[in-house]
Amino acid sequence: MGEGATAVMSGLTFDLEKLNQTYHMFNDMAAETVPGEDESIFQFSAKDNLCTKDLQARAGSRILEGYRPPFDATAVARLRSAGGVLLGKTNMDEFGFGTFGTNSGYQVPLNPFDLKRACGGSSAGAACAASVIPGHLALGVSTGGSISCPASFCGVFGLTPTYGRVSRYGLIDYGNSLDKIGLLTMDVGHLRRFLPIISGADPRDPTSCAQPPLELDAEVRRVVIPEDSLNGVDGDVLETFQTAIEHLSHMGIEVTTMPMPALRFALPAYYVLATSEASTNLARYCGMRYGERNEDYNQHFDPYFSKTRSRYLGQEAKRRVLLGTFTRMVGFRDRYYMKALATRELVISEYAQAFEEHDLVLTPTMPFLPPLFADIEGMSPLDTYKADGLTVPPNLAGLPHLSAPCGYVDGVPVGMQFVSPHWTEGRLVTMAESWNGAHPPMRPEVIL
Ligand code: GLN
Repeated sequence: MGEGATAVMSGLTFDLEKLNQTYHMFNDMAAETVPGEDESIFQFSAKDNLCTKDLQARAGSRILEGYRPPFDATAVARLRSAGGVLLGKTNMDEFGFGTFGTNSGYQVPLNPFDLKRACGGSSAGAACAASVIPGHLALGVSTGGSISCPASFCGVFGLTPTYGRVSRYGLIDYGNSLDKIGLLTMDVGHLRRFLPIISGADPRDPTSCAQPPLELDAEVRRVVIPEDSLNGVDGDVLETFQTAIEHLSHMGIEVTTMPMPALRFALPAYYVLATSEASTNLARYCGMRYGERNEDYNQHFDPYFSKTRSRYLGQEAKRRVLLGTFTRMVGFRDRYYMKALATRELVISEYAQAFEEHDLVLTPTMPFLPPLFADIEGMSPLDTYKADGLTVPPNLAGLPHLSAPCGYVDGVPVGMQFVSPHWTEGRLVTMAESWNGAHPPMRPEVIL
């Protein structure tokens, strides 16, 4: 951990070390002080699963302890060359496996609006930093909702671009067909300023190379809510969401509903595909190439690998390796993996139909308020997976989406999520800006 790191934002100086003792948003920090006067210099953070030259990249996992990549992820490199100074690496659920930030192998970030509550996951530290540090820009990553969910719980904007818009080079993979790098911030102007910087083709990630140009100016007139999406949403969240819909109507946006019955199959399909991909991605952490190793070399490779993995991978990571290995096994592959791929196509075409007549699809972001840590302890893995019901569908379809703070219940933020057609991030940026103009987010009271 760096010593004496300070952040200068909007003319205010923050002792990051001290801030981090309260909120646990960073798990590695730069040891530099940056003058706040020069407007072209800005400070940002990167989620711990993004490779960075001078800091560790551990993806929240103990198995990667001590891993210092010799290169920067493309998104980090592009921000640095635009004048960005990297403040630190933000805490996250191990490899992105989680919804509350509680599956980190390091510290668990605390919600800036109520320290007894979770920040959301898996980009927990990113959302926390974006909420607490004025003017902050946080790079987050979403596979199945990891930008929207913590953005909603921490009361900030969270923009997840179209799959392929931002190069994944230097990202420690969770599910390669799903992973997307995006932005979390309280300052809506950052979306327009920084999305073009991190976007664009990169020969090191072929999935980024076939993208159309980024158009940031767009109009939003018609928004649709999937009919079943409000089932299972807690009453206080629903009330806040309904008030937000009224505000949208006052802004001249037409809000209607339509049936989108395939969306409910997105969650099981996602957990099959995401764990299938994760289980192969995690095979490389075997104690040979990166991070922690078992020093007893006088044994066969199977027990050697197993000992390292048993010791340093967390419980949720192990669960996902088991689940994902099962779903793609000969004999089960057709029943699970192949079916999930077909379901993904169904979800994509259902969205396409909705976009024929509407500019955006809208739902609450999360079905409940940021949960208390005490309540999370009582939740089963399945309860946790179910919490992703609204954030998973756009992720499975590779569609860009935005979570925006839409109101507060007893001072705790509630988020709404807009989904837009592939490559139309401009609609989300425009929506965020006009919403922010009428309903700017509340800042938490920062405890130092
Ligand atoms: N909560 C989801 C999961 O655990 C999504 C996490 C993510 O987007 N990384 O898989």
